[in-house]
Amino acid sequence: MTGAALIILSTGFFMNQSNAETLAIAVHGGAGTIERGQMTEEREAAIREALADAVRQGRKVLEAGGSSMDAVTRAVIRLEEAPEFNAGRGSVLTNEGTVEMDASIMDGSNLQAGAVAAIKGVRNPVKAARLVLEESPHVMLVGEGAGTFSRDHDLEFMDEEWFITDFRRQQLESIQAEDQAATQLSENWFSTVGAVALDADGNLAAATSTGGMSNKRWGRVGDSPIVGAGTYADNRSCAVSATGHGEFFIRHVVAYDICARMRHAGQSLDEASDELINQVLVEAGGTGGVIAVDGQGNIAQPFNTAGMYRAAMGADGKLTVEIYRDESDEDENSD
Ligand code: ASP
Repeated sequence: MTGAALIILSTGFFMNQSNAETLAIAVHGGAGTIERGQMTEEREAAIREALADAVRQGRKVLEAGGSSMDAVTRAVIRLEEAPEFNAGRGSVLTNEGTVEMDASIMDGSNLQAGAVAAIKGVRNPVKAARLVLEESPHVMLVGEGAGTFSRDHDLEFMDEEWFITDFRRQQLESIQAEDQAATQLSENWFSTVGAVALDADGNLAAATSTGGMSNKRWGRVGDSPIVGAGTYADNRSCAVSATGHGEFFIRHVVAYDICARMRHAGQSLDEASDELINQVLVEAGGTGGVIAVDGQGNIAQPFNTAGMYRAAMGADGKLTVEIYRDESDEDENSD
């Protein structure tokens, strides 16, 4: 197939011109005050390997002709299974020492979306979000109801202890000892996970999964399961997954605004995502970052924190795995 690809498919509304040469996938594992020397070499190596593997697994789906929805689901499952990140196993703990998770997924070809919030015990919350999209007439289910729905659809459940790592236990203890407000901690450290992808049919998708904010209470829900805030995908613009101080991402509808700026104001992916993260959020005092991909396979990964765990593979098939800010600078300089 040369040049322009199909414009009409019965399953989707919004077709991009694309082909197998413009496959793209990016993942994140959170943004924050991530400085060199702050973590052990083993931890850093495990994080880099998990990010790289998530991209490889997602890319494999795309190369086999799979959908961007399948690719982002696969990549996010890989990161939910890695105990280093704040999603699935390894999620942060609530004020009561429990685990409550949020996740969402969106299909850019038809604006279908699914989300779960404050869900407990589901091994892979992104699967629950996708089930909401595929098997219910709703967009978001919360709490016990989301759990019942997941059980009814035979999703795998684990005991709470399975999700809880020593690292998160110690983290909660130290926050509570210092009597910090949840929001204070959040400014230092986020490790929510997410993925965005473009498939060979030109369809975009995004997914995000998190344990939310350490020491959270009262059923607090952040941006990750909120369509438009932490996750958005629209074939007419781009796919976005966010990480950071959720309240700011909700107030500024960050993921949707990036897409809207591209669609309605003609901005490029880089311009739109950079403006949201480095101007709008910075002025508001919100910290974090996004990963985003457009219909041409361009990838953007802006963040306004010291670092962001991120990995990507664009049309050239080159894998990049980065944590610190100066790694991107090195890339730019090496051109
Ligand atoms: N955005 C997430 C939240 O506010 C936190 C994170 O990115 O780690 O729940």
